Formats: sequence, structure tokens, C-alpha cells
Amino acid sequence: MMRLQDPVRALSGIGPKTEPLFQKLGIRTIGDLLLYYPFRYDHYTEPQAIRSLVPGKSAVIEASLSKTPTFHNAGGRKLMLCEVSDGTGSVELAWFQMTYMKNRLKPGMHFFFRGKVELRGRKLHMNHPEVLTKEQYFLKKQALQPVYSLTRGLSLSLLQKCMRQALSVMQDTNDYLPLGIRRREQLISLKNAIEEIHFPKSYETMAEARRRLVFDEFLLFGLSVERLRNVREENSCPMTVEGSDGQGRILQFLAGLSFTLTGAQKKVWSEILTDLTGAHRMNRLIQGDVGSGKTILALMAALLAKENGYQAAIMAPTEVLAEQHYESFTELLKNYQCRIVLLTGSMKESEKRVAREQIASGEAQIVIGTHALIQEKVRFQHLGLVVTDEQHRFGVHQRELLMEKGGAPHILVMSATPIPRTLALILYGDLDISVLDELPAGRKPIKNAVVGTSYQSSADRFLAKEIAAGHQAYVICPMIEENEGSDLTDVGTEAERLRQALPGDVRIGILHGQLSAAEKATVMRQFHDHELDLLVSTTVVEVGVNVPNATVMLIYDAERFGLAALHQLRGRIGRGDAQSYCIFMSGTDQPEAMERLQILGSTNDGFRIAEQDLTLRGPGDMFGLRQSGEERFRIGDLMRDADLLKKASEVAKSLPPDQAEKLFADGEAFYHTGEAMAAVADVL
Ligand code: ADP
Ligand code: MG
Repeated sequence: MMRLQDPVRALSGIGPKTEPLFQKLGIRTIGDLLLYYPFRYDHYTEPQAIRSLVPGKSAVIEASLSKTPTFHNAGGRKLMLCEVSDGTGSVELAWFQMTYMKNRLKPGMHFFFRGKVELRGRKLHMNHPEVLTKEQYFLKKQALQPVYSLTRGLSLSLLQKCMRQALSVMQDTNDYLPLGIRRREQLISLKNAIEEIHFPKSYETMAEARRRLVFDEFLLFGLSVERLRNVREENSCPMTVEGSDGQGRILQFLAGLSFTLTGAQKKVWSEILTDLTGAHRMNRLIQGDVGSGKTILALMAALLAKENGYQAAIMAPTEVLAEQHYESFTELLKNYQCRIVLLTGSMKESEKRVAREQIASGEAQIVIGTHALIQEKVRFQHLGLVVTDEQHRFGVHQRELLMEKGGAPHILVMSATPIPRTLALILYGDLDISVLDELPAGRKPIKNAVVGTSYQSSADRFLAKEIAAGHQAYVICPMIEENEGSDLTDVGTEAERLRQALPGDVRIGILHGQLSAAEKATVMRQFHDHELDLLVSTTVVEVGVNVPNATVMLIYDAERFGLAALHQLRGRIGRGDAQSYCIFMSGTDQPEAMERLQILGSTNDGFRIAEQDLTLRGPGDMFGLRQSGEERFRIGDLMRDADLLKKASEVAKSLPPDQAEKLFADGEAFYHTGEAMAAVADVL
């Protein structure tokens, strides 16, 4: 009998060749596989008359061969071209290396063709369309087709075959959620939910499945927040402010800056100071929009820790950000006796060892790194403060890990996720919250434009102009590679297109999640050092990346993203003195989509946008499982599922401690979020 914790190779169809492919996706056990949800569902649309086809969109047509296919040699590959028509017009279809198509497409027979429509010269064209008989088409049209993120060599059909086998394990898996709660919250069983999320019978049943899984995720999160909230520790790393003026060294440091603190920064600093010198250990969140100046507060807190003889650790979610912090800390503190040490996964083993020794001996006073810093191997001499940047990448689990490291350092968390206060109180229920609600003076607000695809050539000219003026630009695409049957702009194709469309001397780089950490870091460094003028990227462009010389961002298929995610993305520009511009290009001209995007055009205030996002609850992609770029949750979406988050958090709060503890343990046993997080931290 199979069990959840068995490795996937226990399934038939997975052998020594295929197992590594699953592992590449983070799937080791059968349980992992079951929790590998589709990221959206495809559905087959009604067939369209050829006359009404729109280039750039995918479509289904019902047509038959109107000319004998012709064969061509295209760079050593055999290309078959044929023409089909439906009485309203004709489309050219192309296949590479698929001569058997010739036998399949008999003259006179009707087929359904599904693919992306392009305009080649004056001809409508589809590359490698899916060919379906009438029966096949109607069968597919009835169901939602799950779309998983796959990897080369691993097909959807293999994944689904394995998934079907894996589902049998659910027969013997108890639903850890008590029936009482399930009834009250009207949730379907865990077994049904897992089945339906992978093989939905209908949109409605998929939505029910999703609701259950999101609830579980939020409930476990809520339970872990409650566990942390109940711990109110005393201040075992007390600090004092020295000097007659209260905080001598800090004020001296501030006097050396080229700017003065905003009112909001001053207010938050005094809150931090009260914590560090007070009776309880600090556990504080600074919530401030992108560019509100959170880093300087982290630095001041670290400086105070150092002055009091403690070490401070600054943790960033990525190496690129860690290095960036390291550079800016080093620069800002260059006139101080202060030992700053960087520790990241990609450093040489020998360098890492030196860094670890300096950390252990206490010689390193401010330590900057990724969250691998809280790992077992790294020992601090006297850690007094931990700052984590962009908390939405850090889970509650890491905070627990930190507590286990011994000592009880103060914790300062910085987040740029502009979420409404009601949600913040749930998400950060165990933290005190400070809000940085004021941008430094003198910033020029970003100018925004919401446009349709017809604006493409103007956008190209605009990019060329800004780059010629010595600035840099981001172009954001929703996808990495060209994907059959998808209309979305992808990084590879777009970079190629821009190489043609822009002057030859424009240096273009690409960035996406499938590059290795080292490759990503190299590209970001090149962009940072202005060795690249333009970066074509998916949304992986790090939150917090600071390239003040970048003044333009063009976002394709903007309607696919949540507003809050778009606002985060936009925060990469508008960081310098020059005027910045953000162009939101919508792949559709649906009025609702445009209207929603106009909210971004009308305000640069993250909190207002978050509120709007919440009320609109995105007409976006109803078949997507998640909308926003928030990465804290596997399936839950903060904005879209705000009501469920509130419900789950109420349930978590209402349970007596022993029951909560048991539920948490049982839920973790199935979802093992803790293990997953530990695996993520396992990079050093
Ligand atoms: P974020 O809150 O997004 O992390 P940063 O801390 O990176 O923002 O700050 C953005 C930029 O603003 C940095 O270049 C920083 O030096 C600058 N900055 C911070 N505070 C002020 C201020 N009070 N006045 C002017 N510039 C500031
Ligand atoms: Mg920042």
C-alpha cells in the first residue's frame, strides 16, 4: 500500500529517468505530488468564424482543407504548410516535422483547429495548432483542462497519469479537519478537494475544492500566528541610547546623510527605540510602500544594536537584494568603525567559512545575508537584532527557527506589501505594526499610461528614446517561453522582437525564474551596473531592487495581474530624480479590464490600490487559482480570498489551546509547510 511519504518512484511510470524531473519541480513524495496544484485551468472556447479572427489571440476554428498541403525545407526541418477554410475565410496552418499530419488531414473532412492566430504578410496563420475531431473537441470543451507548470521532458499526460495513481492514497488519508468545522464552514472533504483540484468535473466543483484548500492553508497559517502571539517575551537584549542628546551616534549618523528623515520615519524610529530599550522583546513590522525609506530604519536599528555590543543580522529574500543591502550599508557607514559581513549561498566555500568564523567570534557586527543566515551552521556570538526585509517571502516558520537559535533577538520585519489594515492585523497578528505612510519629499510621482496593444510601436519608440537619454528600462512579460495555444507575451519572443525593433546598440538582458540563482544574480548585477539598458523579465524582478536610473516600465498583458502585484512591480521605477513612466499594456480591450487598470493610472498610493483590489476582487482570470504575485501562500490569494482569510483566522482564534495544537500538528502532517520551508532555507 502506498503512503503519502513514499517517494514518487513508487508510482508506475516514474523511473530513474523521470524521477529527477519531478524533483526539479520540488516533488519528492506522493504527498508532494498531490499538493502540486495546477496554476490555472484552460477551457476550450466556442469555435469562431475565420472572418472574425483577431491576430495575436488564440481561437478555435472549424474548417477543412482547401488546398493540397505543400512541403518545404526550413533550416533542415521539414515544414508542412496547408490552407483551411470555413466559408468565411481561410487560414494557413504550419507544422514542423509532422508529416503524418498529411495523412490525417484528408480533403473534405472537418476538423477543429486550436491555436494562436498570427498575421504573416496578409495571411492569417496558426503555428502547430491542436487538431481535434468533433468528438474530441466537445469532450475537451466540457471539462476544465488543468495547466501545471512543467519542465522539459515531463509531459502533462505523464503528470496526470501519476496523479491518478497518487489519488488512491487519499482513500486511506483521514481528513484532519473535524467534521464540526467542516459543516459549519461548508467545506468539502479533503479527499474530494484534492481530487477535484486536479481533475475538476466542472467550474463549480473546482471552486469548491479550491475553497477548501485555501481555507486549510489560511487556517494553518492562522494557527501558527496564534502560537507565536501567545509568546510575549521579555527583553533579553536590552539597549540604551548613549550621549546627552539621547541617541548620540545615531544622530551623528543622520547628520552625515544627504537628506533628513521624513516625519513618518521619525515616528517609526521612536517606536523602534521604545521597543529596543523597553521591557519586552521587539517584534515589529514596518509596513511602508515601496520607496518610503525602510532600509535606513533597519540600518539605524542595526547601528544601535552594534553600539550596545550586540550583533545585528539583516536578512533579504534573495542574494541580489542581500548584496544590494551590503553595498548600501557599507557606503552609508563608511565613516564608522563597523564591521559589516556578507554571507550568501553563492560565495565560495572558503569565503563562507571566513564569514561564519567572524560571525561566531563576534567580529562581524552587522551581518547581511539571505534567510539561510538563520540556518543551523551559522552561529552568532551575541545576536541582538534580526531584520528581515520583505516579510512576505518569510514564513512564520523561519521566525520559529530563529527563536530556537537560542537567545531572543529583537525582530524587525519590513514589508512593502500594501495591504489594508484589517488584513494586516490578521497576517501579522503576532507583530506590532508601524506604518510608514509618507514618501520622501521631492520624488516625482510616476506617470502612468493604460494602453492597448495598438500602442506597441509608440511604446517601442518611447523605450528607445529613454534609453538614448541614458536611462534604463524594464519590460515585464507574464510568461517565460512561447507556449502553444497561449496569447500571452513571453520573455524569449519579446526579447527577440525588441532586438529587431530597437536600435542595434541597445543592450538587452533577460531574467526569469528558470535561470539559476547565479545566472539571475549576474543579470541583475549587469543591470544594476548599467551594463544592460533593458531588462526583459517575468515578475521575478525582485521586490526591493534599487536601480534609480531605470525610468520606464512596460508591462504586457497587465490585465492578467492583480492590481497590488502591478503596483509592486511599478515600484522598481520612480526611485531616482528623473521622471519615471509606467506603461500598462492590456492584451484585451475589454472595458472592465481597462477600467480596473485605470485605477493604477490614477493613483500611486499602494494602500488605496489594495483597497480597490479588494473591493473589485478582480474580474481578471477566473480560471486562475491565484491572482496576485504574493508568494506566501501556495494557493490562497490574499486579495481574492480575503473573506476566507478572516473566517479561517476567526476559527484559529476560537479554538482552545490543546485543540489548536492538535489541529496544527495534524494539518502540518498532511501539508508539511514546515518541511517545505526548511527545504527552501537549505541553500547554504
Ligand atoms: P523601501 O522602503 O522601498 O525599501 P528604500 O529604503 O530603498 O525604500 O529607500 C528608497 C530610496 O530613498 C533610497 O535611495 C534611500 O536612500 C532614499 N531615502 C530614504 N529616506 C529618505 C528621506 N527621508 N529623504 C530622501 N530620500 C530618502
Ligand atoms: Mg526595500
